[in-house]
Amino acid sequence: MKSYSPGEQPQQKKYVKLNTNENPYSPSELVLTRLRQACTDELRLYPDPDATHLRKLLSKTFSKKPEQFIVGNGSDELLTILIRSFVSENEVISYSYPTYGYYQPLIDIQGANAVVVDYPDDFSLPTELANTNAKLTFLVNPNSPSGTILPLEIIEDLASRVNGILAIDEAYIDFSTGGAMDLVESHVNVVIIRTMSKSFSLAGLRIGFACANTELIDGMLKVKDHYNVNRLSLVAAEAALEDIENMKQNAMLICQTRERLITDLRNMGFYVWESATNFVLVRSKKICAKNLYLELKKRGVLVRYFEQPRLDDCLRITVGTENETDFLLDQLRFILNRR
Ligand SMILES: *Cc1c(COP(=O)(O)O)cnc(C)c1O
Repeated sequence: MKSYSPGEQPQQKKYVKLNTNENPYSPSELVLTRLRQACTDELRLYPDPDATHLRKLLSKTFSKKPEQFIVGNGSDELLTILIRSFVSENEVISYSYPTYGYYQPLIDIQGANAVVVDYPDDFSLPTELANTNAKLTFLVNPNSPSGTILPLEIIEDLASRVNGILAIDEAYIDFSTGGAMDLVESHVNVVIIRTMSKSFSLAGLRIGFACANTELIDGMLKVKDHYNVNRLSLVAAEAALEDIENMKQNAMLICQTRERLITDLRNMGFYVWESATNFVLVRSKKICAKNLYLELKKRGVLVRYFEQPRLDDCLRITVGTENETDFLLDQLRFILNRR
């Protein structure tokens, strides 16, 4: 099998880092304060295996029951738990391509069979995705690396047409409006997956959660490791929800910067897909995308280049601060003008 290759994580701070969709803004002050307060001798003790308090806060925030949530060590862990809970060897898991690259290795590890349906170039939903007879179907919405979003009616229609479970990965939903979480009430086969890595600026603490009807969540709870989320991450996640306004403000700022970035990139001649996320996908027609990635790296800007079908003429660029965005645009202009 092929392993997943995450974006580069250089350990020195020499780059403007726009390659893995981290948030450029600090987590809320409340999160930082509570974390400092939690650094006591209590770290001797195991964390709450049921994440009781955090699930209560999730239930308040999203108007669901606490029993409808499971918390994971990053949403990546929840993807593993989903597959282990609901899919046996040789059963089918389907998804549309191009999308999040971690699904395929997880499917291979389980010994399941992937049925992959290509997205068209505009990333509208391929109708065949519902006809694969899959035990589990993954849909990233808004999608990565395209940044595009499908309307709720389309998602709801997919949920009622698939045979098995529909897992909707909403890692970027806070940079958009809406979300499909209320579908868990009307559709027993829907699981919503969220992460605190992007909009809540907590990638380093590894916190994700899933929401579904209690029966599906009960099944997933049987499969998870008992102490999967550590004490500090629980504390941070709780504080982050208490101060959710801070996240919303940062997300709004990022959306404003995104729209300016899109306009400027288009003026420079790039094809840029509409984005409902904190990144943009650009197609480079004038200059080879791989060279552009390398040139940007030389000049101190890390972006994501995917050397794979459909994406090898594109770059995915995270929306940074206003200053980081100016720096990126300056370097791009320099590189393009030199040719
Ligand atoms: C970032 C991302 C994840 C992983 O999130 P973590 O909570 O950091 O594990 C999962 N799915 C998609 C689509 C992502 O972009």
